[in-house]
Amino acid sequence: MTDKVVVITGGSRGIGRAAALAAAARGYRVVVGYASNQAAANEVVAAIEAKNGKAIAVKCDVGSEQDILALFKAADAFGTLGALVNNAGIVGASIRVEDMTAERIQRMMAVNVTGSILCAREAVKRMSTKRGGKGGVIVNLSSVAAKLGSANTYVDYAASKGAIDTFTVGLGHEVADEGIRVAGIRPGLIDTEIHASGGEPDRAHRLAPMVPMKRVGTAEEIANAIVWLLSDEASYVTSATLDVSGGR
Ligand code: NAP
Repeated sequence: MTDKVVVITGGSRGIGRAAALAAAARGYRVVVGYASNQAAANEVVAAIEAKNGKAIAVKCDVGSEQDILALFKAADAFGTLGALVNNAGIVGASIRVEDMTAERIQRMMAVNVTGSILCAREAVKRMSTKRGGKGGVIVNLSSVAAKLGSANTYVDYAASKGAIDTFTVGLGHEVADEGIRVAGIRPGLIDTEIHASGGEPDRAHRLAPMVPMKRVGTAEEIANAIVWLLSDEASYVTSATLDVSGGR
């Protein structure tokens, strides 16, 4: 058990929500970041408090540096930062690269890549033992799309997750002797609302027969991997990314 603070971006729904509940159950004080769905974020906080946990909801579009600075300021007021889960991420409608606008690609990279790197920057500033911090863990949400490439669907999204995989390797090396571990997870097809946001609510279930385990995964199955990586049981894991994808 820990009483440290974990910041979870996009903690209001889906995988982030499940991670927030799982981290709270392990004693973390949870900062639930959300982009716009305040009601969903408040529900996560209420669910944690109902089990005598501690949580706050903070609005933070990770595409905005100002929002990220405000998120970490709120975290500082809540306790000692011990972990960051870079979970917030977006997909796009299924189109080919030749039809993508610059605006779409820029937003994808701003949220999925720049947002994650800026959140990690703020976390390292607070957790690095070289800067007087007490160490900690950063978990980055990638995707099996980083390996598959997502042709005819969202190659830009897949490329953003490829960037996250490389970021996990490099940042992990950079802070390995400063008390900070950095790890990633590549989820496969997980049953969340992200597929609806890409225009096809049923996408995960449609593709389930192509998964070696023949089923979609749950947000809780990803959250279990996240809290393991956050825990001391993963104390020798850094610069590594784990597939949690039913074999996909
Ligand atoms: P989701 O169900 O769509 O939930 C997205 C969460 O992120 C919500 O809490 C949302 O906040 C928040 N969010 C969206 N845009 C944001 C922004 N610009 N700034 C901050 N927060 C933002 O997504 P999910 O399926 O749980 O996915 C979570 C992560 O796992 C993502 O990085 C995704 O790429 C990755 N992943 C998911 C799957 C899958 O099959 N589901 C597979 C591979 C990887 P609001 O509630 O305020 O909208």
